[in-house]
Amino acid sequence: MTTSIFSERKDQVHRKGEQPFQMACDRESLAGAVSQRACVFCGSRVVLYPIADALHLVHGPIGCASYTWDIRGALSSGPALHRLSFSTDLQEKDVIFGGEAKLYQALVELIDRYEPKAAFVYSTCIVGIIGDDLEAVCKRVAEEKGIPVIPVQSEGFKGNKRAGYNAACRAMFRLIGTGDISNISPLSLNILGDFNLAGEIWIIRNYFERMGLETVANITGDGRVDDIRRAHGAALNVVQCSGSTMDLAKMMKEEYGIPFIRVSYFGVEDMAESLYSVARVFEDKDPEIMNRTRALVKEELQELYPQLAKYRESLTGKKAAIYVGGAFKAFSLVKAFRLLGMQVVLVGSQTGTEEDYRELYEITDEGTIIVDDSNPLELSAFLQEKDVDIFVGGVKERPIAYKLGVGFCDHNHERKEALEGFIGMLNFAREVYSTVMSPVWRFVPRRELKKSRRAATESKFEPGIAACSSQA
Ligand code: SF4
Repeated sequence: MTTSIFSERKDQVHRKGEQPFQMACDRESLAGAVSQRACVFCGSRVVLYPIADALHLVHGPIGCASYTWDIRGALSSGPALHRLSFSTDLQEKDVIFGGEAKLYQALVELIDRYEPKAAFVYSTCIVGIIGDDLEAVCKRVAEEKGIPVIPVQSEGFKGNKRAGYNAACRAMFRLIGTGDISNISPLSLNILGDFNLAGEIWIIRNYFERMGLETVANITGDGRVDDIRRAHGAALNVVQCSGSTMDLAKMMKEEYGIPFIRVSYFGVEDMAESLYSVARVFEDKDPEIMNRTRALVKEELQELYPQLAKYRESLTGKKAAIYVGGAFKAFSLVKAFRLLGMQVVLVGSQTGTEEDYRELYEITDEGTIIVDDSNPLELSAFLQEKDVDIFVGGVKERPIAYKLGVGFCDHNHERKEALEGFIGMLNFAREVYSTVMSPVWRFVPRRELKKSRRAATESKFEPGIAACSSQA
């Protein structure tokens, strides 16, 4: 069966093996298609949200704030101001007469009450329409209160989620370069693009520490304003997740000459390669770093492999579908499923670039569907067509899987298990096993069951069905 899709979206779907690789991406979502993507504001909110000692004030109607309230776990080892959601709650009167006075009052009150290290003020659709001058209000409050108050130019309508990432990076860049860097080690780095959803950044920091490296700033999982202010003192930016913080790494390279590398902490192969590529950067300064890294990887793998074997035995031959925010995560997931003996038959992302999709094309099997900026109807049809056993996605993909009676693994918003690092691979295997092999599928109408029920029904009412079919 070939799934039908909107004609305007046909060039954003590729079926490997059916035609030469070519994919359209990074463009506005099709109106009416109900894209899985979030808006610009949401893109910036998810990047800045884990900065735990900052005030995050959403300047707009209450709906924007509630939509992003506590949107992800984003654990903190200390302050948790980020878990609160503040909004100026713009009303009709503010839209007519302007919301600047309300914004000023809200900022002053919140800063006095919570004493944050900095404040981020997010612009939403309506603020872009009425033209409130965020820059001027933030500047005034910053001078009065003596903390950085930074506007995030994230009007929801002005692009797609990637534009929100860029707005967040621009906002953070205003903090960087304002802290003291005098005592930072030459063997140091910043971790970019990990949001510490279930404690992953602590695992990764521990690896770097064992390699002899100092982490200057987490950007932004378990993030702190003062650390970000010193981030320009690090010798290297290690960037995970292709979309969200790459712009910041590029800006820091241009302004401060800090090199960056792209990594992924997910899956055995990519986790090990990430550590080795960081070690290679510091080999000149520390000739022993590669040996320490090899020892670390060996120690972790000796513990991991015997435990993975039992899951692989049951999961071999099962089929998986992946739909995630950034395509970089998808690369690692394809490899991780392969390590478990499983086949990826559908893979897509909200914000992938042509380069990302070409890489996915290269690492996937013939027949795999590769999709950019998909929607619930398409995804549902693809899952059924490919007869998958598990769907990996975020909060918006979960109901799609469960409604179809398909196993689900949350790789984003609501997960409570760390899925990065070597221990993360074990947690991932355990989660995949529990959902794919769950006895619950015996009691819900999975598609196979529906098929057999339909067959039974059709044989019972065959003449009627045939008549209806002939009229269609
Ligand atoms: S910024 Fe605009 S698109 Fe985004 S949640 Fe608010 S109203 Fe919706």
